[in-house]
Amino acid sequence: MRFAFLVHPLGEETKTLFNLDPNGCLQREQSSDLLSFCGQLHRMLAGARELSAKAAAPAVRIVDELTGLVSPAGARAEGRFYEIPLDAWEILNDPALAVHYMEQAVDAAHAWGAKLVGLGSMTGVVGGHGRHLAERGPLEVTTGNSLTVFAALENLLHLCAETEIDLAHETVAVIGAPGSIAAAAAKLLAPLCGEMLLVARSASGRAVQLASQLDCELLLDVDAALARAGIVLSATSSGNCIDQQRLLPGSVVIDVAVPTDVEGGRALRDDVLILSGGLARVPETMPLTSKYLWFHQGMVPSCLAETMVLALDGRAESFSLGRQLDVGSIQDIGARAKAHGFDFSRLISFGQALTDSTLVEFRKLQVRGRRRTVNGTIPVQDSAAGPLEPPAANAWRAARLHARYINPVLMALAAKSGFAKTFVRGEGTRLWDADGKEYLDFVAGFGAMNLGHNHPAVVDALQRALASQAPGFAQSSVNPFAATLAEELVSIAPGGLEMAFFANSGSEAVEAALKLAKAATGRAGLLHCERSYHGKTLGALSVTGNPAYQRPFGPLAPECQAVPFGDLHNLERMLATRRFAAFIVEPIQAEGGMYVPPSGYLREAKRLCQAAGTLLIVDEVQTGLGRTGSLFACDREEVEPDLMTLAKSLGGGLMPIGAMLARRDHWLKAYGTVQTFALHTSTFGGGSLACAAGLAALRTLRRERLPENAEARGTQLRQGLAELCENSRLLHEVRGQGLLVGLEFKPLPEAIAAHWKALDASGLSSYLVSNFDQILEGLPAMYAMQTLLNDYGIYAQVTRSNPRVLRIQPPLTVRRDEINIFLDAMRKICDESDFVQRLFDGVVAKTTLGKHQGAGREAAAA
Ligand code: PMP
Repeated sequence: MRFAFLVHPLGEETKTLFNLDPNGCLQREQSSDLLSFCGQLHRMLAGARELSAKAAAPAVRIVDELTGLVSPAGARAEGRFYEIPLDAWEILNDPALAVHYMEQAVDAAHAWGAKLVGLGSMTGVVGGHGRHLAERGPLEVTTGNSLTVFAALENLLHLCAETEIDLAHETVAVIGAPGSIAAAAAKLLAPLCGEMLLVARSASGRAVQLASQLDCELLLDVDAALARAGIVLSATSSGNCIDQQRLLPGSVVIDVAVPTDVEGGRALRDDVLILSGGLARVPETMPLTSKYLWFHQGMVPSCLAETMVLALDGRAESFSLGRQLDVGSIQDIGARAKAHGFDFSRLISFGQALTDSTLVEFRKLQVRGRRRTVNGTIPVQDSAAGPLEPPAANAWRAARLHARYINPVLMALAAKSGFAKTFVRGEGTRLWDADGKEYLDFVAGFGAMNLGHNHPAVVDALQRALASQAPGFAQSSVNPFAATLAEELVSIAPGGLEMAFFANSGSEAVEAALKLAKAATGRAGLLHCERSYHGKTLGALSVTGNPAYQRPFGPLAPECQAVPFGDLHNLERMLATRRFAAFIVEPIQAEGGMYVPPSGYLREAKRLCQAAGTLLIVDEVQTGLGRTGSLFACDREEVEPDLMTLAKSLGGGLMPIGAMLARRDHWLKAYGTVQTFALHTSTFGGGSLACAAGLAALRTLRRERLPENAEARGTQLRQGLAELCENSRLLHEVRGQGLLVGLEFKPLPEAIAAHWKALDASGLSSYLVSNFDQILEGLPAMYAMQTLLNDYGIYAQVTRSNPRVLRIQPPLTVRRDEINIFLDAMRKICDESDFVQRLFDGVVAKTTLGKHQGAGREAAAA
């Protein structure tokens, strides 16, 4: 449907609102997105040129067109901006002349085929708030005020949710009653807030009636209201009535007025929040650019958004007219706007999007009780209600909090690729997100979920331990859970391992092993493998063969030396120096990319270590507890390490726990005296609940014969993947043992990678993304990972240190049919990728670069 939207030249105040300088140009842009900033700048400069080219004759003119508007739901519309030649001040001073121009604009729009006209800014005030034009015809009319009210309230509710302001404890002042926007906002807010103050210019009959209808106080003095209210919603048509200095500390202003009601044009205090109310963000399917109105980061005034929504719905009907807005219509147009993808959660303050750090600082004000509230009392937050509620209720908020307080980069990447889900339930091999969508978990907590999610035996053991009222921790005392777990671990561990130390993670178990080796041997050196992964605490990181992880943290532990994994010759050479306390090694390098060493490697390494007086630490944090098809991976070669580390699935998928097992003689050398027995300890190590979970985990692993299942399902998985790898343009090879499996992807075909780089001839991407080449390298695996997750509901990840390798490690309880689901999905991904690659090859061949490459190949062949 075609629609018209009436605008008028910007007054100075409006320029301030949009943060424009007197010529209508952008003053300051804090967007961190350089590319979108450049785009906006281009558009603005083009608009400014066009405007100045036109003579400023006092006549109605078409200043812009919005063509091809398509909502995510597929609805279409197009519109034109008609500008009347009077600014805000002139309109209010000569409403009759303004209405005359507005009629001209309506007639022109009708001739163009428009069915509906929206009234922007002051054109929505004169002529009885649209009534005159609606009665006159021929177009249907809306002031757009209903959606403006909806947007302002959504902005406020969003802010409250973000900062944990509870409206029920707030004094809210609504300024501008009984104006249409203020009156409607007051009606909607009154039932939600603790106390409402209506602020009017005079005690008119309508103002008094509204106050009595809402059972609230009517004030005629803005400052008196500001001295009491924590929340202020302001929508006058006069502007400039709020002095920022009069606001209470910690108060929030939603300024819906154009020109703005808050004086100053910029934030003068950092203990109050002043937001532009009533803006809507246009859905991404409508890349809105306008030569006339500058849509700040996709934000439009809601009066325009309402006109667009009606047009998208094909509703040629007069909607928001006159002074009395209908509460039901406000909800109706709001719901329609959301259905078309308009968003009201972006908060704008003086032309800038509100940053997370501003919100965090503001929330601190709130939490520390520096905000005044009803009767001056500070509401006690029911802190027990928040985090203990089922997370499902809060999934969206949790993602926001994660981005703000835990890892913004992860969440920014996730937003682009859709890979960071908020899982709210787990059972066995399955996970569910907040929308109830089910996923097969082929990550299994990087090996922590060998038993699957919430295994009933572990849950039961924990519940029984809790019910027993055993103390969680009592240092330097005997803990029956820990003692029993130590006994059971020793009984299943490779021969010679007789002592246990409990920690809280894999890294800590590694720390314990490295320290014991040093203390027992009196040597300083630590030998490890290239590409290894043993954790990220400083000691474990020192023996983790990944320079990228180590670089920012040097100097690390001294005298650490790497040898190639699987290379006995170099190992022997290094051991011969007799400088090394320990050689630490994973039976299979998991995070490095799932590399299995040549058969006999571990056994021979043990022999060489023994000969050199170096202790062998086998790190079974990931390979242990059934993952590779035997209880411990080193069992396959019947190797008896001097020290062994465990963690991950030892907690049964519910508790954090790590363990280091040692030979008695080495333990006694390190810690066997009154002076040394307490040299290495941990407050939480060996806690009752963690050990109860550990006991249940060990018993369940054996009772359910999970190592055997890992062997059988692993064979099925690897055979299936090996078939897919044959003749695949996407897959390179499959590696691993049991259900510790890695699928390596081929690098992007050269033609495609070269083309990609050529597209980026300016070097801009490599400038913005320092490791552009590495990202290109990881693309195929990343593509598969995203497709598995979003199209096939299978959660998989790449290995920590090698983004070309997809790790495939479902819980050991996985069934045959579930492995087949995964194989089917991978098969489809391979087919699809083959098709896309062929298509791409065809396209590339036709480009200049492709022809150039083709010619190069022919020349080389000749
Ligand atoms: N060692 C190995 C072999 C591991 O795979 C890991 C974790 N991926 C660790 C140690 C470190 O364990 P955590 O993350 O629990 O500290």
